[in-house]
Amino acid sequence: MSLQSRSADEIRTLHAEMEQAYAALQQAGLTLDLTRGKPSPDQLDLASALLEEPGQDFRDSAGTDTRNYGGLVGNADLRATFGPLMGVPPEQVVAGDNASLAIMHDLVVFGLLKGVVGSPRPWGEEDEVVFLCPAPGYDRHFAICEQYGITMRAIEMHDDGPDVEAVRREVADPAVKGMWIVPTYANPTGAVVSDEVATALAQMPTAAPDFRIFWDNAYAVHHLTEERTPTADILGLCERAGHGDRPFVLASTSKITFAGSGVSFFGASADNVAWYTGLIGKRTIGPDKVNHLRHARLLPDAEAVHAHMDGHRAILAPKFAAVQEILQDRLGGHDVATWTDPAGGYFVSLDVPDGTASRVVALAKEAGIALTPAGASFPHGHDPRDRNIRIAPSFPSMADLRAAMEGLATCVLLAATEQRLDA
Ligand code: PMP
Repeated sequence: MSLQSRSADEIRTLHAEMEQAYAALQQAGLTLDLTRGKPSPDQLDLASALLEEPGQDFRDSAGTDTRNYGGLVGNADLRATFGPLMGVPPEQVVAGDNASLAIMHDLVVFGLLKGVVGSPRPWGEEDEVVFLCPAPGYDRHFAICEQYGITMRAIEMHDDGPDVEAVRREVADPAVKGMWIVPTYANPTGAVVSDEVATALAQMPTAAPDFRIFWDNAYAVHHLTEERTPTADILGLCERAGHGDRPFVLASTSKITFAGSGVSFFGASADNVAWYTGLIGKRTIGPDKVNHLRHARLLPDAEAVHAHMDGHRAILAPKFAAVQEILQDRLGGHDVATWTDPAGGYFVSLDVPDGTASRVVALAKEAGIALTPAGASFPHGHDPRDRNIRIAPSFPSMADLRAAMEGLATCVLLAATEQRLDA
């Protein structure tokens, strides 16, 4: 029965039950963590062959000694493997070091200091620079904007991507220079940008001549079902619309091989790539080619990447299923929350009654269950409805995950009944 339709007495009874359950939870002395989307140790083991490579065979397929300086755009074999997965011709892909976040950071800083291709002047010389931020979204995107004084405007995130009408309205403002998007299995909702939404974003006129879409395809191949959902071809769509320089495409192997020691990728139009390599050529003599080579050996082609991801799916899918099972079992009957059931990626996005997310997170913390701070998935960490909680099921063991989810459900019901009794 929904909480709304229960009598005050019934709510008091449920509240008392939840208080008891919560007291038991506190006594259990848990230390559980659902905060960040980190791969679990058994996922990292899938790539442990990397630790043996390249051994003494340190020349790449072109005969280059990977131990030395040079090769700014990165290993050609790896670019040939990941280009098609990113929807970018390999010659327009740059393979970098271990973090695509670092590339995104640099792209923003380069934009501010130097301007991008087509900028009338560096973004930093504008009165105001605005980025559109589909929300809930990835907190570290927003943190980059916050760091550099970029105004963030939240855009509602739908199941098929950002609210296109809102985006169209916003880009009529010349101050809007950029937009974040995680096109496939978005962090945290799992939404996938549809071809229609991608087409609209590619075609829309923008007041700024140098508007950029940061197409962060961090979860391009991270399927949780047998269906390999393709990502919309943003580069092709933009080219055909006459806006070929609009997208910056990002990806990495962080959640394919080793989260801290993977390879990042930047893909874009030939002009954008020339602009980017011109700038990074001043900050590095070349990427970690030894790491590139061992990755090229582990993942020789796109099929090898998919086969490797099947191994991740075998570990992750049961965890995501457990999250669904416990949420449905504990909360489904009360109509107090909604949550996503993603077909890929690393997160489940839980919406609790408005005004209770911070309370749920605080209750969970007191009971030894660490959750991402409420509001983290919104610009400046502020969820205007205080209702969204991001769940990251990958890292804990199955037993810990189940215990944490049961505890979280208790906290949701305790906070919801508290609110009803206060009302
Ligand atoms: N983008 C998104 C959407 C992510 O969720 C993450 C990791 N949590 C990253 C980028 C970070 O990627 P990298 O490790 O390549 O910096």
